[in-house]
Amino acid sequence: MEPISFTPLLKQIRWGGRKLGSLLNKAVGTADDYAESWEIADHDSGQSVVAGGTFAGRSLRELIDSHRDELLGCQADMTQFSLLIKFLDANDWLSLQVHPNDKQALTWDPQEKGKTEAWIIVDAEPDSQICAGLKHGVTRDEFQRHLQDGSVEETLHLLPAVSGDCIYVPAQTVHAIGPGIVLAEVQQQSNLTFRLHDWGRVGSDGTPREIHVEESLACIDFERGPVNPVVPVELASGSHQFEELVRCDYFVIRRHRSVNTFQLQLDDRFRIVMVLDGCTELRTETGTLVLTKGQTLLLPASLRQAEFVPSTNVTLLEILTP
Ligand SMILES: [Zn+2]
Repeated sequence: MEPISFTPLLKQIRWGGRKLGSLLNKAVGTADDYAESWEIADHDSGQSVVAGGTFAGRSLRELIDSHRDELLGCQADMTQFSLLIKFLDANDWLSLQVHPNDKQALTWDPQEKGKTEAWIIVDAEPDSQICAGLKHGVTRDEFQRHLQDGSVEETLHLLPAVSGDCIYVPAQTVHAIGPGIVLAEVQQQSNLTFRLHDWGRVGSDGTPREIHVEESLACIDFERGPVNPVVPVELASGSHQFEELVRCDYFVIRRHRSVNTFQLQLDDRFRIVMVLDGCTELRTETGTLVLTKGQTLLLPASLRQAEFVPSTNVTLLEILTP
C-alpha cells in the first residue's frame, strides 16, 4: 500500500486568516478567515478523503474498513483513526478553552473521547502569545471569581510564541492561542471543547458565542499550573537532527531536520509525516513522491522503506501512536 495523501478540509472561522495559503500552500479562496486545515480526520465533523493515487476518492473511514491490516498493522484493533491532525492560522485570539479527559468525556457524550493535544509552532509574529495552563497556585475559587468579574486574564499563564517551539497541552489544561501564530496541531480524535471566555466578542449573528462555565470547571485540573514549551530529547545529531518532542499515551511526535538523505525506522505502525519547511523526495518501495512545505502524508503500517532525499534543508514531523 502506497503513502496516502488526503485533500485538506479547510475550516473558515472568524479568527482565521490567509496564511494557510500563503505559508503552507493550501488551496484557499478569496476569503480572509481560513482558520484550520484538517489534514487527517476521521470524525463526524470532518472526514478525510484520499486526494489521488490508487485510493483516490475514498474516505479515511472506508480505507480503514477495506485495508485495516495494511494501514494499521499491529494497531488494527483501532475502531476510529485515533489522531486528528491540523494546521491552524490564528489571526485573533481563539476562545479560552479546556477539553475533558477520556473519562470525563463520557459524561457528556458516550461517543466522544477526551482531547490531549500538542502544538508545534510553524510561524509566529513578534509579540504573539499563547496561554497554556494557569499561573502557579490559582485555586478553583479564585479562578471562578476572576471569571465572574471579567478579570480571568490575571490567572492565565501567558508565554511568547516562538517558531519551532512545541507546547504539549494535556486534557484538563486551560489554553488559548493568540493572533499571529501558525501551528501544526496533533490531537486525539475528538471535538469536545468547553469555552470559558471569549474575550467579550460576539459571533457573526451579533450575539456572544456559547460559554460552558460549569462543564469547564468540572474538567480543569487546578493542580496543573503553568505549561511551558517541551524540552526536546535528542535522538541523533549532526547533519540529520532527529529529536523526540512528545511521548504520551496518545501520540509520539518526532522532528527531523536535514539537508542530507535519511530513513525512517518503521515498525508495523502507521506514520504521519508533516512537512513544516523545505522540500524533499520520499522514496518507498511503492515509488517516489515530492513533498513540499505544508504537505501531510499517511504512511501505511505495511510500508517497509521510507527514505527522504531533501532538495533543500527540510523540517518534518513524524507522528505515530505508541
Ligand atoms: Zn484545544
